[in-house]
Amino acid sequence: MPAPAIDAVDLTKRFGRTAAVDAADLRVEAGELVALLGPSGSGKTTLLRLLAGFEVPDAGRVAIGGRPVAGEGVWCEPDRRRIGMVFQDGALFPHLTVADNLAFGRPRQGRAGECLELVGLAARASAYPHELSGGERQRIALARALAADPAVVLLDEPFTALDEALRVELREEVALILRAAGASALLVTHSQQEALSLADVVVVMREGRVVQVGPPEQVYGAPADRWVAEFLGDADVVEGHAVDGTAETELGRFAAPGLRGAVEIVLRPERVALGPEGRNVDGVPGRVVRRSYFGHDQLVQVELASGTRLRARTEGSLPWRPGDAVRVRVTGPVVVLAGGEVPEPAAESA
Ligand code: ATP
Repeated sequence: MPAPAIDAVDLTKRFGRTAAVDAADLRVEAGELVALLGPSGSGKTTLLRLLAGFEVPDAGRVAIGGRPVAGEGVWCEPDRRRIGMVFQDGALFPHLTVADNLAFGRPRQGRAGECLELVGLAARASAYPHELSGGERQRIALARALAADPAVVLLDEPFTALDEALRVELREEVALILRAAGASALLVTHSQQEALSLADVVVVMREGRVVQVGPPEQVYGAPADRWVAEFLGDADVVEGHAVDGTAETELGRFAAPGLRGAVEIVLRPERVALGPEGRNVDGVPGRVVRRSYFGHDQLVQVELASGTRLRARTEGSLPWRPGDAVRVRVTGPVVVLAGGEVPEPAAESA
């Protein structure tokens, strides 16, 4: 097994009384694309800066490509860490051509041409940064990062400055390029969509701590707690009571292995189905409160008799209207969490 591209253990960084990064562990295996996801102020940038060597940790240690670079008496300067960086704005030298940007500070020319090929911009080698589109500049920045043959590429919100359509196109392209290069990469982002759609592994941060690590399907489908559930996508919560591994709720019974007492059922809107009110129709009675139509689908908010509100994401063509009487059903697996104190839900979304 090759050494992990990044192995950071128990990293802590304080600014005054704030622990910007608080005993965080982070691992990127060789060849893996990992997304570091969290709301604003959760410590992503600080963690990235600790890995890159722009900050000195108060505690913990970092190894890059199997080599210790910080902590336990070791310190290695940023330019000796075998890290490639891609910043939000590309950070190319405006007075140098693409080829010279790639060659800057490097005695060997070898991989620069190869990396320009890889990002599909070999024909623009003699262009200046201002002659390139925003997306092209980011691809050049990626080529420059890869040309140094780094142990890991760190990407700091690289798509934020681009407009929506270009952002989606470029992020898919960047993921393909990184995979084609066999590179290991850590992508810092506050966009749930970006993290879920690109990464092999998502690391979720909150208030300086790593609160969950797993493949996209796992962090979305089996969130560690209510905060993660609500941060990663639309979620509504129904209270319940568990006895003998089964939770009773106003929406019916759900398996709640290992749980007793108060529980919370976290429902993603795509797991909630609506049907017309009527006899012999399955489901719990409810009333439509609001509908947002998106063409390909719609988000319908319904209120149950108890006053509980839920959202259902359903096929777009069914014209539900506020006030319609409906039957509400849960389809497919749900997340059942132990009830009790929960942190405030995240205010951000993608
Ligand atoms: P964003 O997505 O907004 O960039 P982030 O998740 O990257 O946020 P950080 O920038 O790492 O979060 O900040 C984490 C915490 O540390 C915040 O409370 C921030 O105010 C604080 N912080 C970061 N850098 C410094 C600094 N140089 N001096 C003082 N406090 C800092």
